[in-house]
Order: sequence, then structure tokens, then C-alpha cells
Amino acid sequence: MTLAMHRLLVVEDDPGIRKVLRLLFDGEGFRVIPAETCALGIRQAQSHRPDVCIVDLGLPDRDGLAFVRELRTWSAAPVLILTACGEEGQRLSAFEAGADDYIAKPFSCPELLARTRAILRRVTLRDPGARTLKLGATSIDLGRRVARGRSGEEKRLTPLEHRILECLLRYAGDVVPHRDILREVWGPHHSDMRALRVYITSLRRKLEIDPVQPRHILTEPGIGYRLVAEQ
Ligand code: CA
Repeated sequence: MTLAMHRLLVVEDDPGIRKVLRLLFDGEGFRVIPAETCALGIRQAQSHRPDVCIVDLGLPDRDGLAFVRELRTWSAAPVLILTACGEEGQRLSAFEAGADDYIAKPFSCPELLARTRAILRRVTLRDPGARTLKLGATSIDLGRRVARGRSGEEKRLTPLEHRILECLLRYAGDVVPHRDILREVWGPHHSDMRALRVYITSLRRKLEIDPVQPRHILTEPGIGYRLVAEQ
């Protein structure tokens, strides 16, 4: 796969950051499509069909989550959120809206580039097979990355949530240490335990009947997580 073909939509109202991102990604062979408002971002996404989007949370017309929600009604293109506020609640809302990753401002350019590439790699490598995992009343189509609960309502898993689930599934029944999940899902140099916790919480909300008392994605305190497929 060549990264030179990738179209990157940048939805950001700060002209300084737009310029930095354009210089950064242009130099790496991306085609950068800028938009300074949510409304323009949606129009650009519709006409350019980006492969990946970087979206600021604080936009002048609507917030970045509104962009993600609207995009998700017709596109699975991965979205990385830029956030000035590091609150857990904001991140969870971003994941629930369908974002795939977030990075806090001020960000480091090499890290943003690495995360963007990692998202693209995951999307490209994701398993196209049509396997189904049953967790109690929830069935998960691992090929489509969609979970369906008792009510029949469909919940989409983000690429990172899907990777974490695949990782736990590979060792189903056994504890998978935090460091192994981080290495497998984020790469060898990542140690953001908080991000892992946020994603586990988000997965439980989508897959568990009672996310507060999970029966399938279990915490092994101080060690890691364990997937229990059968009760
Ligand atoms: Ca802003």
C-alpha cells in the first residue's frame, strides 16, 4: 500500500494549525483537503471522499462531534479528533460519535503523523471475513465491525475498539496483560493506559448489557483484561 494516494480532510478553524498540518502531511505525500467549519467539512467530505479525517472539536459553526456523527451516517472513513480539553468525558463522547482516535493539543507533529498512519494501516488490514462473536445477548459481526444487542439496535465498533476485541478474543478466557494489548493495538512504543481504559469503557458500553458490571470484558486488577465469551 502506498500512502501517497491518501486524501486527508482537515477540519480546523485555526489557520496556523491548518498550515502546520498542510505542511506536515503534504511533505509526507498526503493530499490535504482543508475546511474551516463543520459545514464546509461535510461538503468537502462528500465531494472528495477522504481516506482519513483530522477534526478539531471546537469549530465556529458546530462542534467536531457533529461532523463525526454526520459523517458516520454514510462513511466509515477513520477520524482522529484534535482536542484542546483533555477530559475523559469529551473523549468518550468522541468515540461514541464514531471517532477512532484522539490527540490532545498541543500535539507533536511526528506523533500525529504516526497515529494517522497507524489508523490507516489498521483500516487497511482489518479482517474482511464474516465471523460472528456471541457475547451473551450481543452478537458481533467481526467483518463489518458491528454489534447487535437484544433490541436489534446496531452499534458500530471503531477500528481501535475492534483491534482490542480481536486481541482479547485471540486469548479468550485468559488474561491479556495491559502491555500486550497496548503493544498489539497501538504499537511498540505506546504506553497510554488511560486511552486503553477509555476504549475498554466504550467497548463495554457497546457490548455489555450492564457496562458497570461487565460479564464478558473483565478487569483483572493491576494485570490486564480477560474476555469471557460464554457464561
Ligand atoms: Ca478550534
